[in-house]
Amino acid sequence: MLASSPLEPEDLVFIGICDLAAQVRGKSIPAADLPSRLLHGVGYTPANICISPFGTIASSPFGTLGDIVLMPDASTEVNIVEGGGREHFCLADIVTADGEPWPYCPRNFLRRALERLENAAGCTVLASFEQEFVYTGVAAEPKRAYALTSFREQGNFGGLLMAALRASGMQPDAFLAEYGARQYEITVAPALGMRAADEAVMLRELARSIASRAGNRAIFAPMLSPDGIGNGTHIHMSLRGAAGEAKMQEAGRSTGLSPIGEHFVAGILDHMPALAAITTPSVDSYFRLTPDRWAPTWANVGYQDRAASLRICPGSASQFNVEYRVADATACPYMALGALVHAGVDGIERKLSLPQPPSKPFAAMDDAERHGAGIRPLPRSLGEAIELLRETPAAREWFGPGFLELYINFKLDEERAMTGLEPQEVCDRYAAIF
Ligand code: GLU
Ligand code: MG
Repeated sequence: MLASSPLEPEDLVFIGICDLAAQVRGKSIPAADLPSRLLHGVGYTPANICISPFGTIASSPFGTLGDIVLMPDASTEVNIVEGGGREHFCLADIVTADGEPWPYCPRNFLRRALERLENAAGCTVLASFEQEFVYTGVAAEPKRAYALTSFREQGNFGGLLMAALRASGMQPDAFLAEYGARQYEITVAPALGMRAADEAVMLRELARSIASRAGNRAIFAPMLSPDGIGNGTHIHMSLRGAAGEAKMQEAGRSTGLSPIGEHFVAGILDHMPALAAITTPSVDSYFRLTPDRWAPTWANVGYQDRAASLRICPGSASQFNVEYRVADATACPYMALGALVHAGVDGIERKLSLPQPPSKPFAAMDDAERHGAGIRPLPRSLGEAIELLRETPAAREWFGPGFLELYINFKLDEERAMTGLEPQEVCDRYAAIF
């Protein structure tokens, strides 16, 4: 008898969605089957949309019933070989057995928001997610923010990550040692509409992949300790017309924003405290949204102010953008960008204007003066944020029938799971997952 040759592992491709818990979940299939799976999809279970970050399933209307399909989008295929391993995945939409968009699909939530923007203003959004994380491959002490030593110490992690992003169709921009201990940040060029959120998901997974192949982790949890430095995910946005022309800026106007840009930003500001339930949607998120961390605590617009919730960033017409800072990596990028676009379209439809900037610098105002100027505080907890979302009639339209209730239920369940834990324990639980 001939001796059999040693087994070679098959090349598998993972077909997944970034779900409500901001986890990429799905199934892997032989890579050779991808062409047919691109046409027919991969079966999935409805109740899985209610799996919490910690692996429990919140009560859902689905129970054990039903069938849905993950339909991979070939434009999101990531296929790299690094550190002796292959990272091969493809992001998907969730459709019904009849091929219709599934009402609870996060990618569809963003798609519907983008369609509304297109119909309301003939625009799309150009966006980039600026993501901070902790890289465990370096020493925590001494911390040397922005230093060449911190850059040197991380070895080739940053270079490999940039190569992985580029090989996956992104345009890496900068890699830097941020202010916190072991904290780094990587930025990529903005992308249009859905692609921006796809890239945010791909970037997180590639950072985790490159780190883990070196025996380390890239941790995107908002706070690793209750009194630490936060990891923000700042969402930069501008509007682009049908021919790709910049539509956000207009010289000579006091805000620097065009009328449509101002309506869009004013819509986000108007809905802002409630938006936190979608963009900072974890118990851990609210350790970050506290004073003196360069993270926002009030629903305000600032001109070049990095403590503001919305920062109007300077730049030429093509670079000019608005940065939304009430976001972190516990948010699903499709849900976060979708909610911001929906809120912005509400502002366009209602022709909202921004309030006059307060006469005093925001930092010099006390709380009473801030309230007096009509500025609202951000929620102090996930529970508070969820109640604000529940009381937002427009959100019912954004989500569609049943989805808002499902989302609120899902998030309340996550909040309950953290009840009674010490703050450090809460941070540890999120850091272990994110
Ligand atoms: N780490 C800060 C945050 O939690 C942001 C620092 C910065 O401005 O980049 O949002
Ligand atoms: Mg930063």
